[in-house]
Formats: sequence, C-alpha cells, structure tokens
Amino acid sequence: MPKNYTLKQCSQLLQSKQISASELAQEYLNSIEQNNSSLNGYITLNKEQTIAEAKAADAILAQGSANALTGVPIAYKDIFCQQGWRSACSSKMLDNFTAPYTATVVQNLLDVGMVTLGRTNMDEFAMGSTTESSFYGVTHNPWQHQHVPGGSSGGSAAVVAARMAPAALGSDTGGSIRQPASHCGITGLKPTYGIVSRFGMVAYASSFDQAGPMAQTAEDCALLLNAMASFDQRDSTSIERQQEDYTRDLHLALNGLRVGLPKEFFGEGLSAEIRSAIDNVITLLKAQGAVITEISLPHTELSIPAYYVLASAEASTNLSRYDGVRYGHRATEFANLDEMYSKSRAEGFGNEVKRRIMIGSYVLSHGYYDAYYLKAQKLRRLVANDFQQALNQCDIILSPVAPTTAPVIGSHDKDPVQMYLSDIYTVSLNLAGLPGMSIPAGFDNKGLPIGVQLISNYFTESRLLGIAHQIQQHSDWHIKTPFSS
Ligand code: GLN
Repeated sequence: MPKNYTLKQCSQLLQSKQISASELAQEYLNSIEQNNSSLNGYITLNKEQTIAEAKAADAILAQGSANALTGVPIAYKDIFCQQGWRSACSSKMLDNFTAPYTATVVQNLLDVGMVTLGRTNMDEFAMGSTTESSFYGVTHNPWQHQHVPGGSSGGSAAVVAARMAPAALGSDTGGSIRQPASHCGITGLKPTYGIVSRFGMVAYASSFDQAGPMAQTAEDCALLLNAMASFDQRDSTSIERQQEDYTRDLHLALNGLRVGLPKEFFGEGLSAEIRSAIDNVITLLKAQGAVITEISLPHTELSIPAYYVLASAEASTNLSRYDGVRYGHRATEFANLDEMYSKSRAEGFGNEVKRRIMIGSYVLSHGYYDAYYLKAQKLRRLVANDFQQALNQCDIILSPVAPTTAPVIGSHDKDPVQMYLSDIYTVSLNLAGLPGMSIPAGFDNKGLPIGVQLISNYFTESRLLGIAHQIQQHSDWHIKTPFSS
C-alpha cells in the first residue's frame, strides 16, 4: 500500500531529517510504478529528473536554508509548461511539444525546492468534465475503476487520491479543480481570478482560467497557495497585491459564521445522497456555532449557457495559434498553405475541442455576436452581481459541487450537453471570478466520494481555507483512502 502522507507530514519528515528528499521521491516513484498502469493518472514521468531535483533539495535541506516545501514532491497537470518536459495539454496537437520555458506557478514551486513527480492526465485542452477526451486515454477513478475521476484535472485528482503524490496542481476554468476533487475524495481550491499567474499555463478561456492546489487537506492547499500566488508582469490579468500568509486563519472559530445555502442549488436534479451529505456538513457547522441562512442566486440557470458561449468563444480564439507552423502537430501531406492549416488542425484536435471551436467561432461571427456573445457577457455580470448580493448576507456559501457522484466511463459519449449540464454548480463562480473549494463530505452507496463546495468573496482565501480546515478538524471524510474503504 502506498504511503499515506499529507503534504504537511512530508514537510515535517523532511525537516526533522527522518527521511531525505531522495528517499521520499523514491517512495512515490515506487508507488507510481505499482499503481499508475491501472489508473493512468500520470502520462509523463522522468525519473532521472525527479531524482536530480530531489538531490538538489537534499543539498538545500543539509545547508539548513530550506523552506517548508523544500523536498516535498508534487505532480503537475499537463496544462503547465515546464522546461524540458513534454507539455501536451493531453492533445495530439502538442504530443511532440517539449516546453522551452516554465510556467510561473511551477517556477514558484521549483524555487522553494518542490520536486516534480510527473505530469498528469486531463481532458484535451481542459475541455470536459470527465478526463475522457484526453489523447492519452481515460484516467480511472481510484475508488471504482469503471468510473471517471471527473475532469478536466482528473489525473491530478486521481494521483492524489491514490497516494501517488501528496499534492498536485490543477486548473479551473469552469470547475476543473473542484469537480474532480469532489469525485476523487480530495480537497481542491480555485483561487480568486488574478492571484495566481496564468503565464505558461496553456490557455483555454483566459478570462476564466486559474491554477490551484489539489491535496488531501485544506491546510496542505494553504501551504501550496502561499508558494504559488505571486504578481507576474508576464500575465496582464495578474493582480499586484501584498503577499499573504494563507495559513493565518486555520485556527478560525466558526462560532457566529454566517453560512448561506443558495436555494437554486438544491432543486431538481441533485442526488438525494449528495443532499444528505450537505446536511451532515450543516449539522457539523451548527454544532460549531455557525448560523445557516437561505440565500438566492436568481440567475443560476443562465450560468451554463453564458459559460459555454463565453468559454467556447475564448477557446476558439486561443486555439487559433495551433496552425502547424511554429510548433505542435503538422500534417505530412498537403497541397498548399491553407490545406496545411486545415489538415494539421483536423488531425491534431479531438472531437470535443473541435466542437468548442465551432461553437466559439459561431457565437463570435458577424450577425451572431450581439445575439450570443454580447448577451452572454451581460449574463456574466448578472451572475456576478447575484454573488455580491448574497455575500452581503453571509460569510460563506455552502453548496453541492456536482449533481451526482462520478459517472461510469462512457456515460456522456452520445450526449455532450448532458456533461455540460453537470457543471451547473461550479461554472457560476468562474463567471464571477470568485474563489471556491471542494472538500470531502462522505460517500454514496457505491462507495464513491461526495464533495461539498464552499464559496467566499474575492481575496478571502485565507478565511475560506480556515473554514475548510475547521470542518476537517471535526470530520474524517478527507482521511479515508481508496485502500482503507
Ligand atoms: N467542464 C467545463 C468545461 O468543459 C470546465 C472545464 C475546466 O474547468 N477546465 O469547459
């Protein structure tokens, strides 16, 4: 059975010299060797590089100049460029692409001495909710292998749940950190838009995309966010603000905390088992002195259409750069330049990505721009306003992450719209740019994990993480592993 260390425990073992960074990395590489072939969580490994980074961390630890994260291993979603590593975004289009530079978030973690274990599977270009659209095949849910791990950061969620990494990075455009975290029984945070650099993270929908930590606990997410967040001149939407300590509210008292339940999130379509898991969290919060209030997010039902119009529009422009000229896949046979473009794109992109490009090109085209794109922008504002009104009445919003637990592999093959609809509880937050978390809250009758979502106001990650940590201090859902159940 793999080692069951949290990121914090890894840090303590390293600091107290009970284990070296090289030994710790080797333990995880052994666990990957034993478990990855049945899960397909990692799609790229480079053991020599991992060991070399671990040795460098050992030298820093020996000098006594180490950070809390020095020598702690981590896995990266394949969306982050990392110099010398294939960074394919799980697409055939970038299968031959070795990144010539490193994403700022990855660099920040390398700078504190974290050790790269490998790169994790995802939906192609982060478009999807199941990790089934990957060029490298589906990732299996560690709890039940015939189920998906969620998506698009399904590989990151699966390797943390299967203890093949103490933590991983994911990215969240419309739920891709929170939903796979929920489906795999781990903790994930999507930060406020702009506090984590997007430089070097392959773009899907730039006004939504945000990187975030995925780990066993809220405390681990706080430790990671401390190292990840930074102002970055190379990202025009990066926010310049003072560095914060995101662990500072971990001991927060929940007494008097106002928790809002959005009535629109508890209607038709929500599984009864998920509703009852939320009720258990409500009971826990009340026992700690929190006050529960009903709130309203009246434009909830418009968030899915608004999100899919805007995200597809941005995707269609972002993905126009893949033309077979400078990098990525190029068709081998073509008669002229136009044919080279079209054949390279036809061969390099999978079906879901092509669908998004077509939707995006349509809603941006002359004659439809006002009817769809502009309308969706207006809806985006209404959804954001809903949250601001609601967050005047409560400190935090508690909600489901997804309407069901992880579906069986292949469930959405014939009906992509069904998959889009499953994003109902996650996308609105990205429309508003707000931070949100998924934390474990129990299991369904098949033994599949259930997560709950916590949403708070802009730049209040520290309190959000504190509340999540307090819930975890009073429950044991996050401690369960696929091996112990
Ligand atoms: N499922 C959503 C989509 O397909 C969200 C994906 C994401 O957050 N990257 O667009």
